[in-house]
Amino acid sequence: MTTLENPLGVHALVWVGDWLPASAKHAISSTANLGFDLIEVPLLDPASIDTAMTRSLLDDHGLQASCSLGLDPDADVSSEDPAVVARGRDLLARAVDVTAGIGATNLCGVLYSVLAKYPGPISERSRANVVESLAWLAERAAGSGLKVSLEIVNRYETNVVNTTAQMLALIAESGADIAVHLDTYHMNIEENDFATPVHEAHDAGRLGYVHVGESHRGYMGTGTVDFDTFFSTLREVEYNGPVVFESFSSAVVHPTLSNSLAVWRNLWDDGEDLARHAHAFMAQRLRA
Ligand code: MN
Repeated sequence: MTTLENPLGVHALVWVGDWLPASAKHAISSTANLGFDLIEVPLLDPASIDTAMTRSLLDDHGLQASCSLGLDPDADVSSEDPAVVARGRDLLARAVDVTAGIGATNLCGVLYSVLAKYPGPISERSRANVVESLAWLAERAAGSGLKVSLEIVNRYETNVVNTTAQMLALIAESGADIAVHLDTYHMNIEENDFATPVHEAHDAGRLGYVHVGESHRGYMGTGTVDFDTFFSTLREVEYNGPVVFESFSSAVVHPTLSNSLAVWRNLWDDGEDLARHAHAFMAQRLRA
């Protein structure tokens, strides 16, 4: 068996709900102190990120970063309205710049949709706008040296695609050099099992980024996600990319993301205990 060296990461919302200097310092130093390799910074409002300050803090702590976002209702590339699509591309362009600006190499998340329950199925026009925007995004990101991975999320958070097979078809249609970002929380809702999507993405040469989160988005191992199957399949396909722990509680609130993700419950108060537990859980299963 090969030794995998996945960068292990944690989402910033385990620590803080904003990215003011004191918050950024707390999140980055806490992540590094627990032995993580990477922090994922949410970019729903790219203008709120001080890139020089962030890059300097990351350098000081020897930590890698990645960036993720979902789009805004007024800036959504899956809209039928060309003006809304154009604003969506502007938002993505700013996200590319901030991601590169902080020295991160991975841009991921729901870069093709608002994180919201849409009122109906996606239209042909909307899907065509997504396909064109993905090709545009791939070129734009490549110009900044970034790897783009698209997160597959459940039916209540987008109407564009909800399964790995659908996402692979969408990416193929766009012709873009873009990877797939899996998340066990969403797989638990939409996929048949925790092995097949890993194989599908890997076999297509497109497994680029991984979120691990529980069925209720709290402590790993306390919900219904089959992590044994998921991690053993990651090892089986020799996935070497980032594995990032995501968890959300009403104890740490982001002004928009927490509501988009329907974080209404207190699942934990102590982010440090949560993250320490997650690091041990992930490391034990990945490096077994
Ligand atoms: Mn996720």
